[in-house]
Amino acid sequence: MVKQIPIVENILSANDEIAVKNRRRLDEAGVYGINLMASPGAGKTSLLEQTIQRLRGRLRVAVIEGDTAATSIDAERTEKAGAASVQINTGGNCHLEAHMIGMALDQLDLSEVDLLVVENVGNLVCPAGWKLGTHRNVLVASIPEGDDKPYKYPGMYHNVQTLIINKIDLLPYVPFNMDFFQKGVAALNADLTTFPLSCVSGEGVDAWIDWLVSAVEAHRTNPAG
Ligand code: MG
Ligand code: ZN
Repeated sequence: MVKQIPIVENILSANDEIAVKNRRRLDEAGVYGINLMASPGAGKTSLLEQTIQRLRGRLRVAVIEGDTAATSIDAERTEKAGAASVQINTGGNCHLEAHMIGMALDQLDLSEVDLLVVENVGNLVCPAGWKLGTHRNVLVASIPEGDDKPYKYPGMYHNVQTLIINKIDLLPYVPFNMDFFQKGVAALNADLTTFPLSCVSGEGVDAWIDWLVSAVEAHRTNPAG
Protein backbone atom coordinates (compact mmCIF):
# COMPACT_ATOMS: atom_id res chain seq x y z
CA MET A 1 0.00 0.00 0.00
CA VAL A 2 1.52 3.29 -1.06
CA LYS A 3 1.34 5.98 1.57
CA GLN A 4 -0.19 9.22 0.46
CA ILE A 5 0.40 12.52 2.13
CA PRO A 6 -2.47 15.02 1.94
CA ILE A 7 -0.22 18.00 1.29
CA VAL A 8 -2.86 20.00 -0.50
CA GLU A 9 -5.24 19.73 2.46
CA ASN A 10 -2.54 20.76 4.92
CA ILE A 11 -1.51 23.73 2.83
CA LEU A 12 -5.12 24.81 2.44
CA SER A 13 -5.86 24.62 6.18
CA ALA A 14 -2.65 26.55 6.99
CA ASN A 15 -3.79 29.11 4.44
CA ASP A 16 -7.23 29.33 6.05
CA GLU A 17 -5.69 30.05 9.47
CA ILE A 18 -3.75 32.99 8.05
CA ALA A 19 -6.88 34.14 6.21
CA VAL A 20 -8.73 34.29 9.55
CA LYS A 21 -5.93 36.51 10.94
CA ASN A 22 -6.11 38.76 7.89
CA ARG A 23 -9.88 39.07 8.32
CA ARG A 24 -9.43 40.02 11.97
CA ARG A 25 -6.94 42.74 11.03
CA LEU A 26 -9.36 44.16 8.47
CA ASP A 27 -12.32 44.02 10.86
CA GLU A 28 -10.39 45.69 13.67
CA ALA A 29 -9.43 48.53 11.34
CA GLY A 30 -12.97 48.80 9.93
CA VAL A 31 -11.76 47.90 6.43
CA TYR A 32 -14.02 46.06 3.98
CA GLY A 33 -12.04 43.79 1.68
CA ILE A 34 -12.93 42.35 -1.70
CA ASN A 35 -11.08 39.72 -3.69
CA LEU A 36 -11.34 40.69 -7.37
CA MET A 37 -10.88 37.74 -9.73
CA ALA A 38 -11.07 37.31 -13.51
CA SER A 39 -9.33 35.86 -16.53
CA PRO A 40 -6.46 37.94 -17.95
CA GLY A 41 -7.81 40.84 -19.99
CA ALA A 42 -11.31 40.96 -18.48
CA GLY A 43 -10.65 44.52 -17.39
CA LYS A 44 -9.98 44.24 -13.66
CA THR A 45 -7.50 47.10 -13.58
CA SER A 46 -9.63 49.37 -15.80
CA LEU A 47 -12.59 48.69 -13.52
CA LEU A 48 -10.41 49.51 -10.53
CA GLU A 49 -9.29 52.81 -12.05
CA GLN A 50 -12.94 53.78 -12.66
CA THR A 51 -13.92 52.63 -9.18
CA ILE A 52 -11.14 54.54 -7.40
CA GLN A 53 -11.86 57.72 -9.35
CA ARG A 54 -15.60 57.58 -8.69
CA LEU A 55 -15.12 56.84 -4.98
CA ARG A 56 -12.83 59.83 -4.51
CA GLY A 57 -14.08 61.89 -1.56
CA ARG A 58 -16.46 59.10 -0.52
CA LEU A 59 -14.22 56.15 0.38
CA ARG A 60 -10.48 55.75 0.86
CA VAL A 61 -9.37 52.85 -1.30
CA ALA A 62 -6.24 50.70 -1.09
CA VAL A 63 -5.24 48.09 -3.65
CA ILE A 64 -3.14 44.94 -3.41
CA GLU A 65 -2.07 43.94 -6.92
CA GLY A 66 -1.15 40.32 -7.58
CA ASP A 67 0.92 39.53 -10.64
CA THR A 68 2.90 36.45 -11.65
CA ALA A 69 5.69 38.54 -13.13
CA ALA A 70 7.76 41.31 -11.61
CA THR A 71 5.76 44.04 -13.29
CA SER A 72 4.25 46.99 -11.46
CA ILE A 73 2.16 48.21 -14.43
CA ASP A 74 -1.19 47.61 -12.71
CA ALA A 75 -0.10 48.94 -9.31
CA GLU A 76 1.17 52.12 -10.99
CA ARG A 77 -2.22 52.56 -12.68
CA THR A 78 -4.19 52.19 -9.43
CA GLU A 79 -1.73 54.39 -7.52
CA LYS A 80 -2.10 57.06 -10.21
CA ALA A 81 -5.90 56.78 -9.92
CA GLY A 82 -5.57 57.67 -6.24
CA ALA A 83 -5.33 54.44 -4.22
CA ALA A 84 -2.48 53.39 -1.94
CA SER A 85 -1.17 50.38 -3.86
CA VAL A 86 1.01 47.42 -2.96
CA GLN A 87 2.41 45.05 -5.57
CA ILE A 88 2.76 41.32 -4.91
CA ASN A 89 4.97 39.40 -7.30
CA THR A 90 3.93 35.76 -6.88
CA GLY A 91 7.06 34.47 -8.59
CA GLY A 92 5.04 32.56 -11.17
CA ASN A 93 2.39 31.27 -8.73
CA CYS A 94 -0.99 31.37 -10.46
CA HIS A 95 -3.03 32.68 -7.51
CA LEU A 96 -2.66 34.75 -4.34
CA GLU A 97 -2.47 33.09 -0.93
CA ALA A 98 -3.33 34.44 2.52
CA HIS A 99 0.28 34.79 3.70
CA MET A 100 1.00 37.07 0.70
CA ILE A 101 -1.93 39.27 1.70
CA GLY A 102 -0.63 39.34 5.29
CA MET A 103 2.70 40.70 4.06
CA ALA A 104 0.98 43.26 1.85
CA LEU A 105 -1.21 44.43 4.77
CA ASP A 106 2.02 45.19 6.69
CA GLN A 107 2.78 47.76 3.98
CA LEU A 108 -0.53 49.61 4.33
CA ASP A 109 -1.78 52.03 6.98
CA LEU A 110 -5.18 50.41 7.47
CA SER A 111 -6.38 53.31 9.63
CA GLU A 112 -6.37 55.34 6.39
CA VAL A 113 -8.39 52.78 4.41
CA ASP A 114 -12.13 52.11 4.04
CA LEU A 115 -12.09 49.67 1.14
CA LEU A 116 -9.34 47.22 0.26
CA VAL A 117 -9.43 45.67 -3.20
CA VAL A 118 -7.21 42.69 -3.85
CA GLU A 119 -6.65 42.23 -7.59
CA ASN A 120 -5.94 38.53 -7.87
CA VAL A 121 -3.81 36.90 -10.56
CA GLY A 122 -5.71 36.63 -13.87
CA ASN A 123 -6.93 33.02 -13.78
CA LEU A 124 -10.39 31.40 -13.69
CA VAL A 125 -9.31 28.13 -12.11
CA CYS A 126 -7.70 28.25 -8.66
CA PRO A 127 -7.90 31.76 -7.10
CA ALA A 128 -11.44 31.15 -5.79
CA GLY A 129 -10.19 28.11 -3.84
CA TRP A 130 -7.81 30.16 -1.70
CA LYS A 131 -9.26 32.22 1.12
CA LEU A 132 -7.46 35.53 1.63
CA GLY A 133 -9.37 36.99 4.56
CA THR A 134 -11.32 39.41 2.40
CA HIS A 135 -15.09 39.67 2.89
CA ARG A 136 -16.37 39.11 -0.60
CA ASN A 137 -15.31 37.37 -3.79
CA VAL A 138 -16.05 39.41 -6.89
CA LEU A 139 -15.68 37.98 -10.40
CA VAL A 140 -15.22 40.16 -13.46
CA ALA A 141 -16.49 38.41 -16.58
CA SER A 142 -16.31 40.17 -19.93
CA ILE A 143 -18.27 39.93 -23.17
CA PRO A 144 -15.32 39.05 -25.50
CA GLU A 145 -14.47 36.00 -23.35
CA GLY A 146 -17.65 34.33 -24.59
CA ASP A 147 -20.89 33.16 -23.02
CA ASP A 148 -19.66 29.64 -22.17
CA LYS A 149 -17.39 30.52 -19.25
CA PRO A 150 -19.79 29.55 -16.42
CA TYR A 151 -20.01 26.09 -18.01
CA LYS A 152 -16.22 25.76 -18.37
CA TYR A 153 -15.17 27.25 -15.03
CA PRO A 154 -17.99 26.24 -12.63
CA GLY A 155 -15.74 26.38 -9.53
CA MET A 156 -15.06 30.05 -10.01
CA TYR A 157 -18.69 30.95 -10.75
CA HIS A 158 -19.80 28.92 -7.75
CA ASN A 159 -17.37 30.56 -5.29
CA VAL A 160 -18.16 34.23 -5.84
CA GLN A 161 -20.88 36.44 -4.37
CA THR A 162 -20.77 39.28 -6.86
CA LEU A 163 -20.48 39.15 -10.65
CA ILE A 164 -19.54 42.02 -12.89
CA ILE A 165 -20.22 41.58 -16.60
CA ASN A 166 -17.75 43.99 -18.16
CA LYS A 167 -17.46 45.42 -21.69
CA ILE A 168 -21.21 45.38 -22.41
CA ASP A 169 -20.48 48.10 -25.00
CA LEU A 170 -19.13 45.25 -27.18
CA LEU A 171 -22.41 43.27 -27.17
CA PRO A 172 -23.41 44.47 -30.70
CA TYR A 173 -20.09 43.27 -32.16
CA VAL A 174 -19.44 39.95 -30.44
CA PRO A 175 -21.51 36.75 -30.47
CA PHE A 176 -22.60 36.52 -26.84
CA ASN A 177 -25.92 35.01 -25.81
CA MET A 178 -26.76 36.72 -22.50
CA ASP A 179 -29.60 34.26 -21.73
CA PHE A 180 -27.28 31.27 -22.21
CA PHE A 181 -24.64 32.91 -20.02
CA GLN A 182 -27.12 33.84 -17.26
CA LYS A 183 -28.67 30.37 -17.33
CA GLY A 184 -25.23 28.85 -16.73
CA VAL A 185 -24.55 31.28 -13.90
CA ALA A 186 -27.94 30.71 -12.23
CA ALA A 187 -27.45 26.94 -12.24
CA LEU A 188 -24.22 27.36 -10.22
CA ASN A 189 -25.02 30.31 -8.05
CA ALA A 190 -28.54 31.56 -7.46
CA ASP A 191 -27.69 34.29 -4.91
CA LEU A 192 -25.31 36.30 -7.03
CA THR A 193 -25.43 40.09 -7.20
CA THR A 194 -24.77 41.00 -10.85
CA PHE A 195 -23.62 44.27 -12.40
CA PRO A 196 -23.48 44.51 -16.21
CA LEU A 197 -21.32 47.53 -17.05
CA SER A 198 -18.84 49.16 -19.38
CA CYS A 199 -15.72 50.96 -18.22
CA VAL A 200 -15.53 52.59 -21.69
CA SER A 201 -19.04 54.07 -21.92
CA GLY A 202 -19.51 54.27 -18.14
CA GLU A 203 -22.89 52.53 -18.42
CA GLY A 204 -23.78 50.58 -15.27
CA VAL A 205 -20.73 51.71 -13.28
CA ASP A 206 -22.72 53.86 -10.85
CA ALA A 207 -24.82 50.90 -9.69
CA TRP A 208 -21.62 49.02 -8.85
CA ILE A 209 -20.24 52.06 -6.99
CA ASP A 210 -23.46 52.53 -4.98
CA TRP A 211 -23.40 48.85 -4.04
CA LEU A 212 -19.77 49.13 -2.88
CA VAL A 213 -20.52 52.18 -0.74
CA SER A 214 -23.44 50.44 0.96
CA ALA A 215 -21.38 47.25 1.48
CA VAL A 216 -18.64 49.25 3.20
CA GLU A 217 -21.21 51.05 5.37
CA ALA A 218 -22.94 47.79 6.30
CA HIS A 219 -19.60 46.28 7.30
CA ARG A 220 -18.74 49.31 9.42
CA THR A 221 -22.06 48.97 11.26
CA ASN A 222 -21.76 45.22 11.70
CA PRO A 223 -18.27 43.78 10.98
CA ALA A 224 -19.37 40.25 11.90
CA GLY A 225 -22.32 40.29 9.48
MG1 MG B 1 -4.73 43.94 -14.17
ZN1 ZN C 1 -3.12 28.77 -8.75
